Amino acid sequence: MSKQYDELSNFILYEMRMSHIYQPVMLVELLGRKGSASTKEIAKALLGHDVSQVEYYEHITKNMVGKVLTQNRGITSKDKNQYSLNNFDGLSESEISELINLCHLKIEAFLDKRGNKVWNHRRKSSGYISGTLRYGILKRANYRCELCGISADQKALEVDHIIPRNSGGDDEQSNLQALCYSCNAMKRDRDDTDFRQINKSYEYRESGCIFCEIPKERVVVENKLAYAVLDAFPVTEQHTLIIPKRHVTDYFGLHQPERNAIHRLLEECRQSIMDSDDTVTGFNVGNNIGEDAGQTVMHCHMHLIPRRKGDVEEPQGGVRGVIADKQKY
Ligand code: AMP
Ligand code: ZN
Repeated sequence: MSKQYDELSNFILYEMRMSHIYQPVMLVELLGRKGSASTKEIAKALLGHDVSQVEYYEHITKNMVGKVLTQNRGITSKDKNQYSLNNFDGLSESEISELINLCHLKIEAFLDKRGNKVWNHRRKSSGYISGTLRYGILKRANYRCELCGISADQKALEVDHIIPRNSGGDDEQSNLQALCYSCNAMKRDRDDTDFRQINKSYEYRESGCIFCEIPKERVVVENKLAYAVLDAFPVTEQHTLIIPKRHVTDYFGLHQPERNAIHRLLEECRQSIMDSDDTVTGFNVGNNIGEDAGQTVMHCHMHLIPRRKGDVEEPQGGVRGVIADKQKY
């Protein structure tokens, strides 16, 4: 055996770390192509291993192109999973290569005319999302799928709309999520949520509710689905409430875009509180759910309570203090 063989086989057997199938697939491609392959050739080889992609094209072959050429046109015939070109044996070598050439010309002419639009139905994302927005969402997700939690270096993440564009969803950060390829594909296949209903529900207000009727001038900062106001009876200075605009009783009734909107405001308010007051050294974030847990206004709100060193004698336990004598443990 050559030195090169020893080195490579040693690498493959003992050193190659398999976080995915990528490395051996790339090596196979290089070995099979006399030692060198382009990025595109390697990408195509990887694609060939992507079961969900191959399944999709098996479906297309069986139900579309295979049917048309076999049943409608009589150009091919099918035996089990094998297609044959009728009367192939009557073709000479040069005729075969000329026919291949004619097909390539057809493909080129079609793509010239229609451009990359012909693949639009395969795009996972339901619309164009700008690079900065995409980056912001991936960062918010810490480069992990917001559904299953898998990391971006294990599975490619896609930034996509929660409420699809064609159901009235918009490009606001709150309506976007980072999902891994599998979760996104699954969501598309299985999700029959009535998104238009959800979108409409954002407008719901309840008359007589103090948080549905907060005067505009009291709003410190807002985004599409939530706003922040200073608490009228603050626990500490700059005690802020983050409130969804829709009338919803508590946190567990929120739609994900509202959670996103609320979290964004929480971060913004925390930052501006720290910027304006350097005595602030900590925060409590919380919400009371249900009368028995202390909720007094039945419209969901997050408390953002700035804390300062020494504001109480023994701060240990913080929110545990909801049951006063259990605060410390
Ligand atoms: P909770 O007990 O969690 O329902 O919190 C209700 C919070 O709303 C309390 O912290 C109150 O001080 C605050 N609050 C009540 N009325 C108003 C109001 N009109 N504007 C702002 N905050 C209010
Ligand atoms: Zn309300």
